[in-house]
Amino acid sequence: MGPEEPDDCQDTIERLYHYLDGELTDERRAEIKQHLDDCSPCLQAFDFEAELRHVIAMKCRDHVPESLRRRVRAALAEEERNAGGHP
Ligand SMILES: [Zn+2]
Repeated sequence: MGPEEPDDCQDTIERLYHYLDGELTDERRAEIKQHLDDCSPCLQAFDFEAELRHVIAMKCRDHVPESLRRRVRAALAEEERNAGGHP
């Protein structure tokens, strides 16, 4: 998060929470999706937040089995590798 970050990114990050909560209109959702396609830092933030929420939701319902925890960790590592190798 540098001073040169466009406003668009801040907007998108703020809306991510609403996006994940399903509180946005289809139009807004499409806008965010488009931004995420173009902007890997925002996409990473989105992926992380979505994964985190999923884990927390699982944890609240039940305790997370070690096998799932390992899969989440692997998925996160994979995401990082994918984001890094994106042209
Ligand atoms: Zn962005």
